[in-house]
Formats: sequence, structure tokens, C-alpha cells
Amino acid sequence: MPETATRPQLAYLTAALDELKAKGTHFRLRVLEDQQAPVCHYDGREVINLASNNYLGLANHPKLIEAAIAATRTYGVGSGAVRTIAGTMRIHMELEERIARFKNVEACVVFQSGFAANAGTVSAILGKEDFILSDELNHASIIDGARLSRAKIKVFRHKDVAHCEELLKEVANEPRHKLVITDGVFSMDGDIGPVDKLAALAEKYGAIMMVDDAHASGVLGRNGRGSIDHFGMHGRVDVQVGTLSKAIGALGGYVCGSKDLIDFLYHRARPFLFSTSHPPSVAATCIAAFDILEAEPERIQRLWDNTHYFQGALHKLGFNIGGVTTPATQTPITPIIVGEGRAAMEFSRALFDEGVMGTGIAFPTVPEGKARIRLILTSEHTRAQMDRALETLEHVARRMGLLQ
Ligand SMILES: *Cc1c(COP(=O)(O)O)cnc(C)c1O
Repeated sequence: MPETATRPQLAYLTAALDELKAKGTHFRLRVLEDQQAPVCHYDGREVINLASNNYLGLANHPKLIEAAIAATRTYGVGSGAVRTIAGTMRIHMELEERIARFKNVEACVVFQSGFAANAGTVSAILGKEDFILSDELNHASIIDGARLSRAKIKVFRHKDVAHCEELLKEVANEPRHKLVITDGVFSMDGDIGPVDKLAALAEKYGAIMMVDDAHASGVLGRNGRGSIDHFGMHGRVDVQVGTLSKAIGALGGYVCGSKDLIDFLYHRARPFLFSTSHPPSVAATCIAAFDILEAEPERIQRLWDNTHYFQGALHKLGFNIGGVTTPATQTPITPIIVGEGRAAMEFSRALFDEGVMGTGIAFPTVPEGKARIRLILTSEHTRAQMDRALETLEHVARRMGLLQ
């Protein structure tokens, strides 16, 4: 037996895994053997890949690859320290300045990931006496940041601005800070958060407004500037979070806002203070990505054209892609709601066996009874690939009784 076999102390983990297996929601990691591309190989099988967040195909754009290689040659593979000790390289500063210019804000701080950006920021700017008003479907990194802050958390119903106002009224007489926070695009359903209405509400009640644009970065707004640009709310959102890990194609997260907000995060955000900064290649890659967003807007147009084509076809075939009369999704994120966790996982596996990669997602990532496969289009999928995927989706769904 290998030395690391489970000892009795951890036997309860084995029991928990057995429970997942009995429920049919246990999974093995699928292993990508080549590049994150529209057609690629997972576990030795060629598939049409509808599961990645590589919205604009930037994860393997030649200019980004060149930028990463050149930065590695010049600056090495690692930064050697956390930002505040000795690990702030010139190229880290250049990336922050590049993003601030792109987003039309005073300043920007880059974190190691979008998760670190959210968790690190919410927990840094709020404390025990403060209040957080959070959409019930906000991302896990916001929830964790809220918990770490020890502020009082009030959850409003999904996109329910009136409910958020009720909660704001409840704390209107409290002297402490209040934060209203929403995802710009919700990652499991693809719907857009009411950023304009919530920001107006936050203003009315003197609350801080924060938006997590992980799935809106590179997707929504002019040249992919995000949901604040989409709604024309420049200057009215105090804390804008974005990710560099999805459409931007590399890795990282960032916070945009006033100079003082960013300076404060330099001093107090724990992932910034206590975790090593990006390799220079990552920073260089991201700078090249923002250049492409500005130089090649046709990528974003292709992404939306593909999205409309594919979602229209699914809707016509009779798939439940969320929503009642019209699809709930407003972005390339395309859920196919199946219901039961086991059925969603089986659907995903059957699709994979027939050459379509679409991830099965069950509780606790989505509510019980709302299990689904989630598909994401990219600008790089061809019409022929989409048609082949649609055919496969239809015949597998019919065979499994998921489609009449
Ligand atoms: C993916 C995601 C994050 C985390 O971003 P990473 O850069 O992958 O850590 C945060 N918020 C939302 C809404 C996301 O979808």
C-alpha cells in the first residue's frame, strides 16, 4: 500500500465520497491533452469543446504566446516574492496601468485570481459592524469574502432590486458602512445583473456599490469593458472586479476604482500581502490581451453571433435553457436544465462519449433540482462545429428521454 493510504483519522472523507458516488454526482477530472480550443482532446477523445471560459480564443492567441515567451526570456519564470516585499515587477505595474486606462478608472490592483480579488477585497474594506447586501446567486468568492469580513450578511432574492431596497431600509439607521454587491453576469445562468438599478439604489442609501464582472470581462460593453460600460454606469460603481482568467485567456483578477481604494488594498488585502505575485509571463500575456480587445473587436462580434445562432437552435429544438417563454441567459453562458443531479451527470457523460464536451453541474454549485449541463460558446467555434454539437445534443437527449 502507498504510504498515503487513508488512515482512520480521515475515513469520514471516504464515507462522504461514497455518498457522492451513491448519488451519482461524484466525478473524475477530465484531462485536456492539447490546447484549450474549440476542438481538442480530453482523456484521449476528440471533442467539440463547449465547456471552457476561453470566450475569445485568447488562451492560445499567437500574440499572447509570444508575449509570454518574450517576458519569460527577459524577466524569468517567477517574481520571487509577494508584491509588498520585493515581488512588484515593472510589468506588474504596467498591467495595472493598462487595465485602469482600458476601464477608464483612476487605478487598478491585480490579484493572483478573480477569487482572490473578490475574497481579498470584500474582507479588507468591511468589518464586523458593517453590512453586506448580496444577491443570492453571487459567486462563491464573494460569499467567502463576506464571511471573512465578519460583516452582517443580508441576502436578497436573485436580481430582486425591491428586495434589496427593503433590506437597505432595515439598516438605514445603522451608522456603519453598507455594501451592495452583485455579479455583472451570473456564471451558472448567464443572466445579467441589474447593475444600473442597484447602483442607483446604493447611491440613494449611501451604500458602497461593487460589481463582479468575471464573466462580463471581454464579453459585455464596448471592446469587452464589462457590465458597467454596458449599462453606461461609469463613475457610479465604487469597486469593479474583473478576471484575467476567462476571456482574457491567462490568469488573475483585478479591482478597479479610485486611487485611494487601490492604495488601501495594497495595504490591507490579504492575498496581495501574503501570496506571491504573478510570473512576469502572466502580466505580459494580459497586457497583450487588452491590446487585442481594442484591436480586434470582431472577436467579440463573432462570440455574440455564435451565441445567438446556437441558443436560437437549442430553443427551437425544445431544450430548457432556463427562463419560461424566452431564454433567461443573456450571454454566451448556455445552461441546459436537466433537473436531477444524476441525470445531468449522465447526460454530460453520454455527450462526451459522442464527442461533445459540456460540463454537468449539480448541487451545491446550483440549487437542488436545477442540475444542468452548462455550455459556453466562443468566438472561435465554426458553424460546422456548432451544427455537429447541436445534432449530438439532440440525439443524445432524445435517447435519454430528456427531449420529447
Ligand atoms: C470565475 C469567477 C470568479 C473567479 O475568477 P478566477 O479568476 O477564475 O479566480 C469570480 N467571480 C465569478 C462570478 C466567476 O465566474
